[in-house]
Amino acid sequence: MVDVRSGRTGGPAPESANVTSLRQRNRALVLTHVLQSGRTSRGDLARECGLSLASATNIVGDLVAEGLVHETGSIASRGGRPITVVEPRPEGAYLIGADVGERGVAVELFDLKMTRVDREFRGGRDDETPETIAHDLDDALEALRERNPAAWPALAGVGLGLPGVVETAADGSQTLYAQSLGWPPVAVGDLIHFDGPVSAENGAKTQAMAELWFGAARGVEHALVALLGRGVGLGIIADGRLQHGSMSTAAEWGHTKIERYGQVCRCGNRGCVEAYVGADAILNAWRATGASFEGSGWGALGSLLDAVDKGDPAATGVLDDVIHSLGVALGSLVNLTNPQRVVIGGWVGVRLMEQHAARIADATKANALTRAGEQLEFVASTFGGDTVAVGAAIMPLETLVRDARPRPGDVPKSA
Ligand SMILES: [Zn+2]
Repeated sequence: MVDVRSGRTGGPAPESANVTSLRQRNRALVLTHVLQSGRTSRGDLARECGLSLASATNIVGDLVAEGLVHETGSIASRGGRPITVVEPRPEGAYLIGADVGERGVAVELFDLKMTRVDREFRGGRDDETPETIAHDLDDALEALRERNPAAWPALAGVGLGLPGVVETAADGSQTLYAQSLGWPPVAVGDLIHFDGPVSAENGAKTQAMAELWFGAARGVEHALVALLGRGVGLGIIADGRLQHGSMSTAAEWGHTKIERYGQVCRCGNRGCVEAYVGADAILNAWRATGASFEGSGWGALGSLLDAVDKGDPAATGVLDDVIHSLGVALGSLVNLTNPQRVVIGGWVGVRLMEQHAARIADATKANALTRAGEQLEFVASTFGGDTVAVGAAIMPLETLVRDARPRPGDVPKSA
């Protein structure tokens, strides 16, 4: 079951409120299923959501009236009667997801089928600050608005995947704590100026949301979704829900320790996972062997892996160390959480999984209890290195799933 965050109940409610909340819950179930499957039927919806065919039909009718789903034809059934196909209506709503990294922002516009309609990248500096990020976000949004005037009135909101811990206060305001980047706490409201709903989440957690909704963790009750990039992050899915802890710093795996008195980490501490398997750590270790290469990103990591392929002993030693460290770090997580599935993503993770997935899985199992190691499968992320923006766009999607919205021309329904 996905986390549709369908409201909190506090004590007994009057019957009419119960009826309303039940209706909302069923609407959320059906809409989630249509969005996730991309193509379904009323019969499938009834079966998958545990509803009667009449209820599923009613809810689909409501969603058609809201403009969020539509009928796209029919297929023959075994009984001979045609089955009507139900799909998300692409132009029914638009969503923006932004991947805010430490080297720039990628702002992406999606339609309701989660097809990427447009994309704008800004930045590329080595010394991004909250101010340059805010400027780039506003600039990128404006460029998207100018190019997509028809989408703007149907925009459900903006989701931001941010490089740090994101806390939400009781009044709904959010604050970013990006300790590793040396930034002071930043109010999310200062990062973006958008006249509509904005929500933010840690980038690794948005990646986990993307995998949970549409990717390698869909339908999995217990999963770990690791993000390996310049930073190292994690989403823990337990009982089908992304875990946040008391104030949302849960799963800050990149800053758990794998060595006492170890390498200095960007967070200021020593021996953190990120100080061994983050992109900078990997490339610094290779540079320390006397290797010379260009850049500090995708291309540089590719050069390292190419050198390994050619049998270069220094590069091989660096990769062996990285895989060993990753195995130690993941093995502890496996013992702690007993996942069914471990998903590896992020641009570093994707590159490593392309060529060395079996070794990473073996190293993890070697560092976990035998029984826990036998109970999991290891997969690469569905969305490659470009997941954070997709996951960020799921935040406005969740709002759409949770709250029925009136459409222009709607006649209010009587209960
Ligand atoms: Zn650290």
